[in-house]
Amino acid sequence: MKILVAVKRVLDYNVKARVKSDGSGVDLANQKLSMNPFDEIACEEAVRLREAGVASEVIVVSCGPTVCQETLRSAMAIGADRGVLIETDAGLEPLAVAKLMQHVATKEGVQFAIFGKQAIDDDAGQTGQMFGALMGWAQASFASKVEISGDTATITREIDGGLETLAMKLPAVITTDLRLNEPRFITLPNIMKAKKKTLEVVKAAELGIDIAPRTVTLHVSEPATRKAGIKVADTAELVKRLREEAKVI
Ligand code: AMP
Repeated sequence: MKILVAVKRVLDYNVKARVKSDGSGVDLANQKLSMNPFDEIACEEAVRLREAGVASEVIVVSCGPTVCQETLRSAMAIGADRGVLIETDAGLEPLAVAKLMQHVATKEGVQFAIFGKQAIDDDAGQTGQMFGALMGWAQASFASKVEISGDTATITREIDGGLETLAMKLPAVITTDLRLNEPRFITLPNIMKAKKKTLEVVKAAELGIDIAPRTVTLHVSEPATRKAGIKVADTAELVKRLREEAKVI
């Protein structure tokens, strides 16, 4: 069974996002970009399934500019077998990515796909679900445990009230929650090995797929800055201020 893992290159989670002065989006110039953390978890899970003999091959796929090859190499250093870059400089919305992934999954005869539950740049949380709908596959979002036996995947999902366990017939898609696993440390020998793995580059423009955006970003703004705290003299003043000044949000 082949597994497809979607990996997106995003602003590194340690970098504080800055909004462009014209409010048109987040400023990515000269910033550190890395693999979306949820996609690292997706890669790790797929590699564990291959190591357990459940999967035969892990294919990592990224959609974006040439530099996404670096992200695919990192995914291959975690242990993915090969990578596919669907290359484009166009801004991609979740529906466009889902369609491009549909193309790869169909061409490769993939039976199981793992997406991150959300990309930490746009926080859309839509792509895996749209992919599942386009493929007509079963889907389970926010997976915190995955077991595959024969043609059935048993998935534990993190939901508000606790945990939900679902059984799905393959082919299927899941999106990863934070608690699914802890990705392994990428070692130097594995970085070297990853350099030799196959990385196919396909131009998105040559696929005849409509990836035109459906939405327009009107404005992006920084979160409101937090007001500095104050020190109170004693409990009596604290109670007084809470009574008179505290607001229910
Ligand atoms: P989103 O719906 O944008 O929050 O993204 C959810 C997940 O879809 C990510 O964690 C990735 O697994 C996948 N994804 C989104 N955009 C891309 C992309 N450009 N290339 C590869 N995977 C992507």
